[in-house]
Amino acid sequence: MSTADLLLNHVSELWTGREEEPLHDAAVTFAKGEVDYIGPSADAPGAGFEVDCHGLVGVPGLVDCHTHALFAGSRAADFERRLAGATYSEILEAGGGILSTVEAVRSASERTLRSLLISRLEPMLLGGVTTVEVKSGYGLSVAHEEKMLRAMTGLDADFEVVPTFLGAHAVPVEYRAHRDDYVRQVITEQLPVCAPLARCIDVYCDRGAFTLEEAETILRRGQERGLVARIHAEQVAATGAAAMAAAIGASSADHLEHIDSEGIAALARHGTVAVLLPGAMLYLDDDAPPVARLREAGVAMAVATDFNPGSSPLRDLWTAATLSTLIMGLSIREALRAVTICAGRALGRPDLGWLGHGSAADLALMAPPPGEPPELRVLVQYFGGHRARHVVKGGRLVVRDGLRVSRCPSFPG
Ligand SMILES: [Zn+2]
Repeated sequence: MSTADLLLNHVSELWTGREEEPLHDAAVTFAKGEVDYIGPSADAPGAGFEVDCHGLVGVPGLVDCHTHALFAGSRAADFERRLAGATYSEILEAGGGILSTVEAVRSASERTLRSLLISRLEPMLLGGVTTVEVKSGYGLSVAHEEKMLRAMTGLDADFEVVPTFLGAHAVPVEYRAHRDDYVRQVITEQLPVCAPLARCIDVYCDRGAFTLEEAETILRRGQERGLVARIHAEQVAATGAAAMAAAIGASSADHLEHIDSEGIAALARHGTVAVLLPGAMLYLDDDAPPVARLREAGVAMAVATDFNPGSSPLRDLWTAATLSTLIMGLSIREALRAVTICAGRALGRPDLGWLGHGSAADLALMAPPPGEPPELRVLVQYFGGHRARHVVKGGRLVVRDGLRVSRCPSFPG
């Protein structure tokens, strides 16, 4: 008797995100939006709809847990200036840098921003990324921060965005002479409007950015409004930001190129996830974060794209995973956990990035590159560009044969 709604059968190699070793010739069934069965194909129950997955690699839907994917404008001129030898302050003086992105976002309508976001999310979904965290932080005023967060809502149900309020991303030009007033605005004016639209709150805390004291106050006020705290920490210098964030219960501390032993010990003690951003490290020619010491201390490591136009124009989470092995020293298995289960934890979403009872029921069936065997390690070996043959989101087939099911009404969904 058929019990499940959907059966993904004969998956050549299936990794659930929890076990060390993948299963072979495995099946997954979904019923009422939940994972119902994972095991050998031979024992799989019947289902209303079956998809043959021979030759494919099954992984939990990937989670990109740190992006600035909602922006307008172009920073190509900055890039060209930089290659010609300009410093960051010279680029700023020429009208470039983050503040040019702020200008462009302020000039864009909510509708334009939403359609830009969708056009960036669609290829991610087709690559097996089923959840994307997106930060505000290019509005830097009550109205424009709210507009950014509103642009992240009302998306097609196939896309899952985790919205993060990042009003404390930079001090806008009009507040340069009185930054205290800007911090006050973030807390007393932006936060009340933005908190109901966001899940997480983040602060860029570093030398030259927001101070430790400012960051702590902003994060605590966000927590009081039910937001999950995150932090951009120790990218430029060791400031103690990661330890502070861990101590107040932040779910993650991100970047960490310059984290010290005290910071590492604090992350380990409080179970705070270290989010590593190899795209930014490579693009800015930074030092690598101390991965061996993080590993030794038992800190969970996530990897994200940090997709943004200025310091990490990297849209492909699979490439970020590969870079994390090459330039940071993660193992293949660590890199896979870093873009799935650990990334879910970084968002305070323990249901994401694994497959089983109680999980979000997101599954990507990846096609290996032509001529390669259907093995997990091949997906990390190659520099991204992977396409999912099928994607299940919340127990629902949303991509079939590489196409969005919602765009092809003849496919049963
Ligand atoms: Zn960032």
